[in-house]
Amino acid sequence: MPARKRIAMIAHDNRKADLLDWTAYNVETLRRHDLSATGTTGGLVEERLGLRVAKYLSGPFGGDQQIGAAVAEGRLDLIIFFWDPLEPQPHDVDVKALLRIAVVYNTPIACNRSTADFLLSSPLLDEPYERFANTDEV
Ligand code: PGA
Repeated sequence: MPARKRIAMIAHDNRKADLLDWTAYNVETLRRHDLSATGTTGGLVEERLGLRVAKYLSGPFGGDQQIGAAVAEGRLDLIIFFWDPLEPQPHDVDVKALLRIAVVYNTPIACNRSTADFLLSSPLLDEPYERFANTDEV
């Protein structure tokens, strides 16, 4: 992983306020990295914080799958994924697929705010890091 991390963000509707609050709190740290997000989440982060965010499709229309593909192709280093644990989503299978592919490729993925805080405050965030993928074993 490069020192400048490629960070993808996703928030389900009930978690968007939490993600926006978290991104506002961490805006200066996030500014040092390359940001992307699913469509609606990315639009909100851009609009509220003025950060540049590359946008995938909206989650229910394939955005989670695009992010999964980017992980598999080595185009992402870190995922902030605020999924909703209290309501079913139309794209629940995509959510599960993304969680799985992140584990397969040993990609850091924060599914709640405290984990996101720990990731963002890690000394490894601004350094190159050699990440061994589970695929190295097969
Ligand atoms: P959205 O997608 O950012 O386009 O709302 C998030 C999701 O539901 O996966």
